[in-house]
Amino acid sequence: PVRTPREVLAFLREREVKAVDLRFMDFPGLWKHFTVPAGAVTEDVFEDGIGFDGSSLRGWMPINESDMLLVPQPETLFIDPFAKDVTLAMLCNIQDPLTKEDYSKDPRNVARKAVNYMKSTGTADAAMVGPSLEFFVFDDVRFDQTTHSAFYSVDSAEAAWNTGRREKPNLGYKVPYRQGYFPCPPTDATHDLRSEMMLAMEECGLTVESHHHQKATAGQSAINVRYDDLVSAADAVLKYKYVVKNVARKHGKTATFMPKPLFDDYGSGMHVHVSLWKNGTNLFAGSDYSNLSDAAMYALGGLLKHAPALAAITNPTTNSYKRLVPGFEAPVNLAYSQRNRSAAVRIPVYSARAKSKRLEYRVPDGAANPYLAFSGMLMAMLDGIRNKTHPGPPLDKDIYDMPPEELKDLPRMPATLDEALTALERDHEFLLQGGVFTEDVVETWVRYKREEEVAAVRVRPHPYEFSLYYDI
Ligand code: GLU
Repeated sequence: PVRTPREVLAFLREREVKAVDLRFMDFPGLWKHFTVPAGAVTEDVFEDGIGFDGSSLRGWMPINESDMLLVPQPETLFIDPFAKDVTLAMLCNIQDPLTKEDYSKDPRNVARKAVNYMKSTGTADAAMVGPSLEFFVFDDVRFDQTTHSAFYSVDSAEAAWNTGRREKPNLGYKVPYRQGYFPCPPTDATHDLRSEMMLAMEECGLTVESHHHQKATAGQSAINVRYDDLVSAADAVLKYKYVVKNVARKHGKTATFMPKPLFDDYGSGMHVHVSLWKNGTNLFAGSDYSNLSDAAMYALGGLLKHAPALAAITNPTTNSYKRLVPGFEAPVNLAYSQRNRSAAVRIPVYSARAKSKRLEYRVPDGAANPYLAFSGMLMAMLDGIRNKTHPGPPLDKDIYDMPPEELKDLPRMPATLDEALTALERDHEFLLQGGVFTEDVVETWVRYKREEEVAAVRVRPHPYEFSLYYDI
């Protein structure tokens, strides 16, 4: 593997690389990039960085202090499978050019700080994270100028009956609502597309475990990649999304990680499997409930305790809360269970081996900025371990089937993004420990989400309002 600037330069020559693409993530969570000719990359670039204007990026620097530096990180390199000329991409850290300090609002920096903080507490020396993302593949999305809302049209050949639009060619092999789990082609019409995505992911250095059609109607997909250390796992999420969107695009389709694009069918989550390690030992394996250790139980307690505040980061869109409703295997109540998919935390029992003992946090969705989401989860778990926060008894029944009187004392996820932001405003001390998240990051996040998203959605007429009220 390439680790040093010198090795990157050798790699550029060996592979006859023509262009070098520098990537970083904006505050809400999208990759940004710019490109330089391969000849412009010298060893100095890895020391001095390359300047760019950070003022026009969402949630960042005010215009009067907009100059920033991108410092490429050799170990993140990969050949972009979609660029026409041989292009090497590298992820970058962001620095202030005057102080050479890492930028507080760079999400990757927050994640690196979270891992360093964990190490400094002596609790663990590694956090292993396995995100499992779901997404939909659609033909296209139409943006309605009147209501300023988007209308999707699902793949015309397989599921036109869902929308009543674009009924061309009707092949009959259709995935009914909620029945997308594991059919073979021709019903699984996106099989080849997912295989192509899987292969492109491997080219980019990800290790794929499997891919399959997911439970919703036509086009809902899951491609599972192997767990990694926290920062690399977050890097991997961005590579994953990049590949998925580009392969879809190549075939004239689009892919969306929007948490709940279809009413009355499954949404798309980003379940996060996590375990903490010390000296090569999994700290979560033990003899408590489901063979978890005390540390794992406290970590779980921390996660559940801070889940409403974390939701503002792990479920950061107004649409996220349309997924967190009963009946679709997405969590609503803050409970944990060995098998139950309606619980916020599940303890998978696929393998009894201590090595693979882990918590599956089922709350997050693919709209989250993975660096901030994984860091927030880690901080909540460390807080739980520090304070010995016990999660209470497990809930091994299907929460959706429980009568309301049994449910009423069970804490719930926030019902809206606005509620989650309020929870974050009230409860974020645990994020500030060790300077991992700064007040600045939390405040900017809350303000950005309230102004640009919550308020913006609130003032726009909703398509369903036309059905309810047009003929009033
Ligand atoms: N799609 C579901 C969700 O929104 C999860 C489905 C599954 O666990 O297989 O979280």
